[in-house]
Amino acid sequence: MHICVIGAGVIGLTSAYFLQSEGYSVTVVEREAAAGQGASAANGAQLSYAFVAPLADASVPPRLPALFLTRDSPLKLHFRLDPVQWRWAFEFLRHANTRDARRTTAGLLKLAELSREFIEPLIEGEGIACHFTRGGKLVVYPDTRSLASAHSQVLYQAGLGSKQTVLTREQCVEQEPALEAYAQRIAGGVWTARDAAADCGEFCAQLAQRIVSRGGDLQSNRTATRFDMDGLSVRALMTDQGPLRADAYLLAAGVGAPALANTAGIELPIYPLKGYSITVRPASDTVRLRTSITDARRKVVFAPIGDRVRVAGFVEIGAQGNDIPPARTSALLDAAREVLGYAVIDGDIRPWAGQRPATSSGRPIIGRTPVEHLYLNVGHGALGWTLAAGSARLICDAIAGRTPTIDVKPYTYQ
Ligand SMILES: Cc1cc2nc3c(=O)[nH]c(=O)nc-3n(C[C@H](O)[C@H](O)[C@H](O)COP(=O)(O)OP(=O)(O)OC[C@H]3O[C@@H](n4cnc5c(N)ncnc54)[C@H](O)[C@@H]3O)c2cc1C
Repeated sequence: MHICVIGAGVIGLTSAYFLQSEGYSVTVVEREAAAGQGASAANGAQLSYAFVAPLADASVPPRLPALFLTRDSPLKLHFRLDPVQWRWAFEFLRHANTRDARRTTAGLLKLAELSREFIEPLIEGEGIACHFTRGGKLVVYPDTRSLASAHSQVLYQAGLGSKQTVLTREQCVEQEPALEAYAQRIAGGVWTARDAAADCGEFCAQLAQRIVSRGGDLQSNRTATRFDMDGLSVRALMTDQGPLRADAYLLAAGVGAPALANTAGIELPIYPLKGYSITVRPASDTVRLRTSITDARRKVVFAPIGDRVRVAGFVEIGAQGNDIPPARTSALLDAAREVLGYAVIDGDIRPWAGQRPATSSGRPIIGRTPVEHLYLNVGHGALGWTLAAGSARLICDAIAGRTPTIDVKPYTYQ
């Protein structure tokens, strides 16, 4: 059976890899010149299996004015005359309550656990050099109120099997000595030992090579333009270089997915959320980062990538293009200086911007569709690296017609 995967980001490639390992022949269509150039290129690098709570939660509505109107807010709305944006924002706010957030968290914890089970053997087994480290993750909170609210999330997740520990300020510094200079600005943190970090862009580049070396066909510089339909069935994928025929089509095109899905009559509630990163090399005499960190005050993440540190943040709803305003780069640099005490950073800071393919609920959409031969693996938002391997396993189950190992209802296209 021949599967055409649309999109060579971490989701499309991981799917193609597992499908190929089950004996399918795969063609991956990618509009860029190489794999892993979209949202997967220079993301926050965190394999954040235990921190999967969605962006839409009960804390959002009361903070709306501050979140949207403050100039340097980590969450920002770029208002557009665009009904798609309004519908997405309305649905996002509809999901911003404790009941929905907890339901989504419970589902995503299972998918993240499935991912953990498969991604680490994949990286190790294939010898992919992507600076994988199982150094744990520490989220630090600025005050006792935010720490108490994190504590209640820890208790909730403990009931679902998560192993997380609430740490005092001193214990945070013990766990991650790079935080010493910042200690006075935090009340404490939540620590998870099993979380990991690795360079997602490097993973994509090397996984694409493995797929090709086993006979997979990576068609880069080729843009999918629409599905050619025969009633409720896909006849072919139309591209800028002619049609492509396969037995099944897997749409994994990140923020490019909704436009393509529309041509098959499928509406996807996915909207791009723009974010930024820098990748810096701290001076050799500074304390080396061991763990990945999220600073809850700034909503900025830090992850070790070899001798460099990835610093990522900001969620902009409706900011188009991949331009990088200098203010964003300097805000991330300031965060690295303040949180990690990096007084000296060399000039090579590698700024980057990417668009998270986000659903309003925070849940990806994975599996079959009402359209014959068309499957979806889309909408992973801020967690695509973390959820990639589990999502790919679910796609293999769906295409093979097997009973999946976890409940797939939360991810079903409706
Ligand atoms: C700032 C930032 C920080 C992040 N941090 C983390 C993190 O720490 N941990 C985590 O788990 N996740 C993180 N994420 C989220 C993660 O990066 C994404 O969820 C993930 O990369 C999505 O993967 P994807 O394969 O769906 O999309 P992409 O990587 O964007 O891949 C989609 C591919 O499809 C191609 N494509 C689109 N349309 C077409 C078309 N018509 N024809 C052909 N090809 C097409 C694109 O060129 C692209 O290569 C972060 C994201 C951002 C922006």
